Amino acid sequence: MSPRAADPSVAVIADRATASADLTTLAARARGCTACPELAETRTTVVVGDFPPGARLMLVGEAPGAHEDRTGRPFVGKAGQLLDDLLAEAGIDRTATAVANVVKCRPPGNRPPRPAETRRCQGWLDRQVELVDPALVVTLGGTALSWALGGGTRLRDARLTVHEWRGRRLLTTYHPSAAIRFGPNGAPLAALRTDLRTAAELM
Ligand code: URA
Repeated sequence: MSPRAADPSVAVIADRATASADLTTLAARARGCTACPELAETRTTVVVGDFPPGARLMLVGEAPGAHEDRTGRPFVGKAGQLLDDLLAEAGIDRTATAVANVVKCRPPGNRPPRPAETRRCQGWLDRQVELVDPALVVTLGGTALSWALGGGTRLRDARLTVHEWRGRRLLTTYHPSAAIRFGPNGAPLAALRTDLRTAAELM
């Protein structure tokens, strides 16, 4: 039996998300989610995402960190500051951009989300994409890449291609945390800068 079939929470969440007629209903349901016991016990808030009306671009990251967990908003810590700077440089208005994560609760100690957690949580994100209906989705980092294009997809193969995906366009790029880790002269920062400029052209 596949792990997905073995975990009833995956279908329960997908059904609740699919039955959510709008983002407000979905957010209320996601905030009450306890499908991942460790995350539900340790989180301060469920970071549902930012969804300005009419967003044409949707950015998808991995999971909230400490700042996001405290404030309830995605990408407001160090990685978020870099993301804001690069979006501004590319001429993209973050306040008009939808931003969400694959996993809505902070993994303790900022460990990577576990496969079971990403599988359970992705029903919320799949439905968020449908409800936002952006022209372009940009995935940031490996977890979001796997969500969009499947596990085993390598960023070096997927990047620099404009994918036709679920009736819209998709770009894949590095996570801002990788850009911070590799420093100002590292390849991830240059790639992220280039890719967000491409995103601005595609919107
Ligand atoms: N990293 C993410 O992937 N998402 C956030 O919201 C913050 C940091």
